[in-house]
Amino acid sequence: MTVLAGGAVSDVGRVRPVNQDGALSSPFLFAVADGMGGHRGGEVASALALRALGGRARYRDASDLVAVVEQANQVVHGASRDDPNVRGMGTTLCAIALVERADAGAAGAAAAGGAGGAGPERLVVVNVGDSRAYRLGADGVLEQLTVDHSLVQMLVDEGQITAEEAEHHPQRNIVTRVLGIEATVDVDVWELDVVHGERFLVCSDGLFGEVEPDRIAVELRRWADPREAARRLVDVANAAGGRDNVTCAV
Ligand code: MN
Repeated sequence: MTVLAGGAVSDVGRVRPVNQDGALSSPFLFAVADGMGGHRGGEVASALALRALGGRARYRDASDLVAVVEQANQVVHGASRDDPNVRGMGTTLCAIALVERADAGAAGAAAAGGAGGAGPERLVVVNVGDSRAYRLGADGVLEQLTVDHSLVQMLVDEGQITAEEAEHHPQRNIVTRVLGIEATVDVDVWELDVVHGERFLVCSDGLFGEVEPDRIAVELRRWADPREAARRLVDVANAAGGRDNVTCAV
């Protein structure tokens, strides 16, 4: 049986008074949540979402994981509605899970067990918001797997600004899709083959807002121990300014 070897580090950064990010790491699941909302809202939203996701040891397939992300949305939304102290809170949620089998309903599932020696186990990435999942290929090349739900990503898609301009855009913190704000949520989902030697990073915008992708790739290649890699990435973000909470799961 395959398991994921990994570690996660979450840090308040150098400027913010509290850490509203959170992370989860287990042999079958890595997740990062970046909460938002006044008072204690952000912390509560990210913690509720991660608790909902971590309530299960293992997920059967992609649909199973997406269903629990939808439940997590209802949990955060319900708590926000019922408690005036955390009204309007929300959170990003980005996760990668090693699931038991390919999802018959998911794109590409027909290729399960095909070329590349892939077994029945699959990796599933889910995303809501502007946290990210990256894959470091066995060739050492870093690739962003998720697409941000953000205003600047929308402007890039429409051709109004370049990806380079998006990195420094004054409105780069505006998210267009968040867990907990609406009664229902659309979850982006990707299904991947399990390839030994690949490495994955799930992180909050406190990392890639401070650190260029090339530098992220350097650190991911340099540190064999995943928790050490996560710690070093957080250190690099803090050294670059640490203007936001920063969370990395490798
Ligand atoms: Mn953030």
